Amino acid sequence: MKKIVIVGGGAGGLALATQLGKKLGKSGKADVTLVDKNTNHLWKPLLHEIATGSLNDELDNVNYLVQAKNNYFSFKQGQLIDINREQKTIKLNNINDHQNQTIFPETVLNYDILVMAIGSTSNDFGTPGVKENCIFLDDQESAKKFRKSFLSTLFRISSGLDTKDKLNITIVGAGATGVEMTTELFKMVDTIGYYGFKKLSSELLNITIIEATDRILGALPENTAKDIHLKLEEFGAKILTKTKIVKADENHFYPEGQEPIPADIMLWTAGVKAPDFLKDIAALETNRANQLVVKSTLQTSRDEAIFAIGDCACCAKSGGGFTPATAQAAHQMAAICYKNIVALINNQPLKTFEYNNKGTIISLAHTAQGVITTIGEKQMGVKGWFASCIYTMLYRFHQISLFGIFKTLRLVSANRVYRSIRTKINME
Ligand SMILES: Cc1cc2nc3c(=O)[nH]c(=O)nc-3n(C[C@H](O)[C@H](O)[C@H](O)COP(=O)(O)OP(=O)(O)OC[C@H]3O[C@@H](n4cnc5c(N)ncnc54)[C@H](O)[C@@H]3O)c2cc1C
Repeated sequence: MKKIVIVGGGAGGLALATQLGKKLGKSGKADVTLVDKNTNHLWKPLLHEIATGSLNDELDNVNYLVQAKNNYFSFKQGQLIDINREQKTIKLNNINDHQNQTIFPETVLNYDILVMAIGSTSNDFGTPGVKENCIFLDDQESAKKFRKSFLSTLFRISSGLDTKDKLNITIVGAGATGVEMTTELFKMVDTIGYYGFKKLSSELLNITIIEATDRILGALPENTAKDIHLKLEEFGAKILTKTKIVKADENHFYPEGQEPIPADIMLWTAGVKAPDFLKDIAALETNRANQLVVKSTLQTSRDEAIFAIGDCACCAKSGGGFTPATAQAAHQMAAICYKNIVALINNQPLKTFEYNNKGTIISLAHTAQGVITTIGEKQMGVKGWFASCIYTMLYRFHQISLFGIFKTLRLVSANRVYRSIRTKINME
């Protein structure tokens, strides 16, 4: 029986493991194993909502063991550290508990087909001081850590222990994450103030967004980005474009050729790269962002037994350029990878992957704005409630791919009930 190992249970990897489990695991045609360094999956585009407490992370976390049991695949907790292509094995680091005691030793797993789906991490572009002093929204742990320390600062201000009149938050990177985080932060402080905490309103926040290029949201059409720029200013944010940060220390960002910018809280959302250990791993081809170079079938360029999907894959588009590192692309890659693995097992020809950009919506606290792509690359601007619904739909489609439509509908209504009996912001 063929052994399929998928490393990384994120937007792409978990959907793929679920589909392969149902198709090949259930019938005994293949042994499907998912490996992830964590025990639970949370859809990464929700991280800014975890950071600002507007999301109930209990209901949105998916336990890998349960998902595996329900969908005929196995789950192995472990962090991939190496690949041996000759022996067709991967090495997983040992797992330690909260007291640093090893609970699972280093392990080696065999594969016939390996899928790399380990996502990406923030890219500091080697800027001195950024790694040490900035907050990155890379995983649940960092998002929760941010929320807890931000809440402590807010409560100290409210109780008078901290006498600041203004809280300087500086965000480097005006892509979707930086923009969405800005509006969520304003909403968060207003909502906490609504529960009676003195001095807490969005007026407390001095949010500055710093962008190296000449405009925010480079991936969106210029007029949509302009509209969102104005909206951010209405919220109260200050936007500095054409400003390149060359250094950071504990309380400042240093722009090239300009005065330092003071900051009480420093967030870095200026781009992503695949994890550093992927660089040239097992002599596979990688690019400058450490992504594994794949052919149009999503097989890595130097080894047809290894596929790569999602943020850790570098996949050229037929019309030029590369597939973007988005959840939308990871889902589409998972769907083609699934078909190609089934085809490979059945000795059938493989399909080629072509990214189909369905548009980009940016969530702006209570509303949303962006573009949807209708036919080809033709774009249609959308705003407000309709845009918010489309934004939510991408997550619902992800849930449907994991649980099916009926369970997803039940989850949506459970979430509604839960929201009606808890504070609108998670204050823990
Ligand atoms: C705040 C934020 C907002 C975003 N908003 C949007 C949006 O609105 N729309 C959109 O399309 N995209 C959005 N994105 C991007 C999107 O989240 C990613 O493109 C998408 O999650 C990539 O999917 P993936 O499967 O490649 O990786 P991920 O979903 O990141 O999953 C990677 C998995 O691999 C595991 N892993 C990592 N390293 C190892 C290892 N060494 N061994 C074992 N397991 C490992 C991780 O634990 C994780 O489970 C957003 C991202 C962020 C951070």
